[in-house]
Amino acid sequence: MSTRTISVCSWKGGVGKTTTSQHLAHALVRAGKSVLLVDLDPMHGLSTSCGIRRPERSMTDVFEARFNLADVVVQSADGLRIVPADTTLAGVERALQNEVAREQFLKRFLEGVSYDYVIIDTPPALGILTMNAFMASRGLIVATDSKFLSLEGLVLVFDSIQKVQTRLNPDLQILGVLPTMFTRTVHARECLEETRSFLQKNLGRAAVFNPIPYTIRFAEASTAGRTVFDYAPDFEGAKAYESLAEEVIRWATDGSLCVEASTSSTEAPPSIDSPAVA
Ligand code: ADP
Ligand code: MG
Repeated sequence: MSTRTISVCSWKGGVGKTTTSQHLAHALVRAGKSVLLVDLDPMHGLSTSCGIRRPERSMTDVFEARFNLADVVVQSADGLRIVPADTTLAGVERALQNEVAREQFLKRFLEGVSYDYVIIDTPPALGILTMNAFMASRGLIVATDSKFLSLEGLVLVFDSIQKVQTRLNPDLQILGVLPTMFTRTVHARECLEETRSFLQKNLGRAAVFNPIPYTIRFAEASTAGRTVFDYAPDFEGAKAYESLAEEVIRWATDGSLCVEASTSSTEAPPSIDSPAVA
């Protein structure tokens, strides 16, 4: 199988992009796939969540042609392979402004590696780094916290993605929207419905993945540089990311796209920390 490259994006920070990149990667590895994570955010949350601080080599070295991408890969405590980032990546974003074909760099770097999946964690804006991720990717997962204001952000994200598809990368597919930090509230459920109808109208399919429940365990695991899979394998958050990985594998195998989350998603999934407000 040729490598499938997927970016996780949103124009808002703190919505679970990094958590999603890391947990999707680990779920795919647990399903027997080879996976490379790429931290493309100068805030380097993915590297930190994988327990990698002040890496000796980073994505900056690749952009500045000191090392090939394959020579920068390190392993997390969970055994995930990652190209780490640090804050110097912000300087790369500025330097790229004046480059010819500035959106194409990452795509070329990735030509030198062979994995079943490459998962790219992006910064929360459509800058040149995110454009590099979009040009290198076949699939996009749009993360959204399940809040009403985030719906407006979703409209902007879709607008940008559609421009990228028509002008630069017609192969780019929106795999679906992933509601994260989902609580047992009327508000969250209404947001889910709004997201569904927005997608039905704009994409022709209600491409909403099974929501990821809100729980402090994600933050706890990332503090330890781990995912929740070994730490709390049976809890709903781990299962929700397994279900996302299954959808991704289905797409990679036969091209089928997320149409609708499982029927249970209209009911809020079990959530450990949130109050059971109906
Ligand atoms: P982003 O990459 O979009 O900025 P992160 O993945 O870093 O977002 O998540 C922001 C914070 O929220 C982190 O502390 C993370 O541990 C926490 N978090 C992520 N997903 C969840 C969730 N489903 N429930 C509760 N907290 C979460
Ligand atoms: Mg992040």
